[in-house]
Amino acid sequence: MDSARDIATDEIIEAEALWEIASVDKERYRCVGCGTQVWPASYLRGINKKRPYFTLGVASEHFALCNIDGEEKFVKRAATQRIGSVEGFPLPFPNRLVLNDERPVVNRTGDVMHDGVDGRVRTRGDSTRGQRKNHGHTVKTIRPIAKTFMKFPHDRAFLQLQIQDCEGDTYLTVFWRLRELTQFHHPTHLYCAPLHWKQSTKTDTSIEWQLDAGDWDKVNNRRGTPYRVRVDWDQWSTTQRNTLLHEIEVAIDKAKGSNGAVKAWLFFVGKQDNQDQTLLVVNRYQLICCLEGSKSI
Ligand SMILES: [Zn+2]
Repeated sequence: MDSARDIATDEIIEAEALWEIASVDKERYRCVGCGTQVWPASYLRGINKKRPYFTLGVASEHFALCNIDGEEKFVKRAATQRIGSVEGFPLPFPNRLVLNDERPVVNRTGDVMHDGVDGRVRTRGDSTRGQRKNHGHTVKTIRPIAKTFMKFPHDRAFLQLQIQDCEGDTYLTVFWRLRELTQFHHPTHLYCAPLHWKQSTKTDTSIEWQLDAGDWDKVNNRRGTPYRVRVDWDQWSTTQRNTLLHEIEVAIDKAKGSNGAVKAWLFFVGKQDNQDQTLLVVNRYQLICCLEGSKSI
């Protein structure tokens, strides 16, 4: 499971938020669908090579009618076909990004910032003909949105999505896959492209990566001028910086061992520089994530 309810805060947290917690309390997580106790796994940076997740204990099961139980089957089917219908979408999905505008506590050593999602909505929905309808819920980072985009490729035109400053109102129209260099009419979008992981430039105030997108040098048959992503992270805590770097490392590790089948996809709400079309700038921690995925998503 990608997320769980934290009974101490009554918020739903993404599994990746475990990377930011200095000492994880294993007892406090519950299934968001039915409340069964679940256990955090693979959350130790530097030891676990996979991204974190939540798992049922050996003897546990979801309670009857839990909408998380069975999610896996839907996700498998969704790789090849649309799983939604005119009656709705069978799983909970994020449909709105709302940034928590309280200033984050700037603690440079070990702050805790939970990436919560609005859990109350996950259990909302009526049961007609045995199938739940889901109308979407609010999330606080783009990561669950990016995961939904990847998991349900044939439903993108039908799933509603709203992100402030971004045009579009569905997954299909909000996401912009970067390809050749273009000066965009509207500079801010939720962009995505594979990371060109051999290049990064890091300073105390920013970090910059090249993307595997941009101009192609036909003569030499290689990437010409690439797009670049600059993350202005001077307001970020050390934990936040390390979490992004670690997530990128996890995705790159998967990509490296895959013979080109897997890429490290960077998703970010960025603004294109109005003088330099190759430069896209991100400033907020909640607006960037990196996920491993197939070479075309
Ligand atoms: Zn459950």
